[in-house]
Amino acid sequence: MTTMLEMPRVRACTATTCAYNTSESCHAFAILVGDHGHAHCDTFVDGGAKGGIRDVIGQVGACQKADCVHNVDLECRATAIAVGSHDDGSDCLTYESRTG
Ligand code: SF4
Repeated sequence: MTTMLEMPRVRACTATTCAYNTSESCHAFAILVGDHGHAHCDTFVDGGAKGGIRDVIGQVGACQKADCVHNVDLECRATAIAVGSHDDGSDCLTYESRTG
C-alpha cells in the first residue's frame, strides 16, 4: 500500500494577469512548472476569461526543474511555493539551484 503525499501549495502568486489568479492567489487545481532555462509556470495563461476552482488554492502537480533543491524525481517536495511574474509569464520564486 502506498501513502499519498500532499502536493505543495502555491501560497502566493503575483501574476495577476493569469486566468487562474484572483487577488494574488492561484486557483488552478494543480500547476506544472517547466524547465525553460528558468522555473516557468507552464499553467500560466494570459487572457480575459478567468478560470480555476474558486474554493481551491493551487498546488504543484509536477515540476520539470530537476536541478532545484526541492525536486525529487520531477516532483516538488517543498512545503509550499511562491510564484511571480517573469517576462510575459510567471516563474516559481521558490526555485533554488542545487549548484548554487
Ligand atoms: S520549488 Fe523547485 S521543485 Fe518546487 S516547483 Fe519550484 S522549481 Fe519546482
